[in-house]
Amino acid sequence: MNQQISFLIEIQNIDMDLLKYEEAAKEILKDIKETEDAINIKEERREELKEELLDLSKKIDMEELNIKSYDGRIAKMKDTQKLIQTNKEYNAMQKSIKDNESLKKKSEDDMLLYLTNKDELNNKISQVQKEVVQLTNSLSEKRDIYKRNKQKFDAAKKDFNSKKDLLVSRVKREYYTVYETIKRNKKLPAITSVTQSGACTGCYRMLPPQQFNELLSETLFMQCPICSRILYVEQNNLEKTEK
Ligand SMILES: [Zn+2]
Repeated sequence: MNQQISFLIEIQNIDMDLLKYEEAAKEILKDIKETEDAINIKEERREELKEELLDLSKKIDMEELNIKSYDGRIAKMKDTQKLIQTNKEYNAMQKSIKDNESLKKKSEDDMLLYLTNKDELNNKISQVQKEVVQLTNSLSEKRDIYKRNKQKFDAAKKDFNSKKDLLVSRVKREYYTVYETIKRNKKLPAITSVTQSGACTGCYRMLPPQQFNELLSETLFMQCPICSRILYVEQNNLEKTEK
């Protein structure tokens, strides 16, 4: 195989490995961001629930006071009732006592409902809190993984780049420029093999027969006329064709 082409293939292999690392890092960062967002949403929900709980506690305190004051009033009225002389006054007092008793009953019912709601709210809050803790743990694991991968990636990148620099220095400037341009425009692969039947594996279109024959002679730097990728023939394909 043309040595220039071999260098370009090696450069491309390095670029593909670098790309894989970058994409894996991006994936983890995306995952981290999503987990952070999920934590924020849960924390907001938890704060909302806590406010609801605060309001509810105020209502409960209020009803407690109400019940106490109804009790006080009822007791006073009962004392007064004992001293009442006339039936009419007695009945009027009795009615007031009954009214206060039904108000007290209403407060007690409300109180019971508030207490049930309070239990439910407390359960909800502890559930959300549990989820926040789980997400936070998973976030710190993900951050650790990212940090470890980043260190590995940075080391590998340095290694890859020095290998790549060496290869680039051995490739003709114009060839490398073509490679970089295709890589930028079409993404990888920028250099691609041709099948035994003469199709470009970048775009899967057939090459004109004459061009395919020229490529088989292995001496040319050639681009696909359709997708403009740099073409080469795999060594084993070449042997099969020659037989
Ligand atoms: Zn092509």
